[in-house]
Amino acid sequence: MPIDLRSDTVTRPSPEMRAVMAAAEVGDDVFRDDPTVNRLEERVAEVLGKEAALYVPSGTMGNQLCLKAHSRPGDSVIAHAQAHILFYETGAPCAISGLQPRVIDSEDGTFTVEQAAALITPANIHHSHNRIVAVENTHNRCGGAVWPYERFASVCGFAHEQGLMLHLDGARLWNACAATGTEPTAWTQHADSVNVCFSKGLGAPIGSALGGSREFVEDCRFFRKMFGGQMRQAGIIAAAALYALEHNRERLVEDHANARLLADIVGQAPGLAVAAPATNIVMIDVTAPNVTAAQLAEAVAGEVTILAIGPRRLRAVTHLDVSRTDCRRAGEAIARAMQALTGPG
Ligand SMILES: *Cc1c(COP(=O)(O)O)cnc(C)c1O
Repeated sequence: MPIDLRSDTVTRPSPEMRAVMAAAEVGDDVFRDDPTVNRLEERVAEVLGKEAALYVPSGTMGNQLCLKAHSRPGDSVIAHAQAHILFYETGAPCAISGLQPRVIDSEDGTFTVEQAAALITPANIHHSHNRIVAVENTHNRCGGAVWPYERFASVCGFAHEQGLMLHLDGARLWNACAATGTEPTAWTQHADSVNVCFSKGLGAPIGSALGGSREFVEDCRFFRKMFGGQMRQAGIIAAAALYALEHNRERLVEDHANARLLADIVGQAPGLAVAAPATNIVMIDVTAPNVTAAQLAEAVAGEVTILAIGPRRLRAVTHLDVSRTDCRRAGEAIARAMQALTGPG
């Protein structure tokens, strides 16, 4: 079996996680009778420092529920051009909420108050209503980058000065916390709504949660039904999420160290450029003129699976189902495959 570095979503539930799933107390969560879901939502609210939380099937749904509950059709959302909510969620902000995206691009997924301020339109009959600023931490498409804390806080402060809602896409907030030694509340205290995933680095099979004020979360509960995301005896999967939350956050530093090891090895191969990863996502850029990202992915596929996410860019993601040895072997295999592709004539 090739070492699977396509994403940190490819993990399988461990025997311990499966055991808590099998033993989970359940009820009908649409009647709010599932004790395990209730426990998860209370615990997530506590971890995020929010009044309430809502368990949802996916991070996409969590993000889109937050956008929907914050806005009316025609409102604007200021976000990074490569934000997951815009790039990887099927155009949902436009399709579902009628939001007009106003975007800022940058290498690291962050932006400044000045850049956000430049997108604020005057309040008159010509413009959409400025409504939401969305930030992503860590930033998926920008290589798992962590927002510098002061910049994050200042952008959130600016949004609030302007009367806007601040949404935090924290699918990998756990990684940002592990990388910086911060608590989730250090970040979430600045956000009106937050989405977090259990099915990424934490190793749960399914599920995300959103957090916010009690009233906001009740609005999201209504829209979750509209989106068809209500679930019945969801305690079976919520038990996995609870297990993941309590057991798999501290170990994320290992994924980050493994990502750095992989980057070091791959970065030594001729024709590849690799920036030091901030967390568990390694971006590999092909600099050799005659090789594409797709060719390299194909050449190494027997040993390692990685994604070509651009014509010259590949992504490798470390996670709890790959060891340090796996990451070393994967790095060596990628370097070897590149040598074979560029090799002497
Ligand atoms: C993965 C991800 C999501 C949500 O993904 P789902 O596959 O819908 O659970 C949201 N935001 C970011 C930044 C992500 O990486």
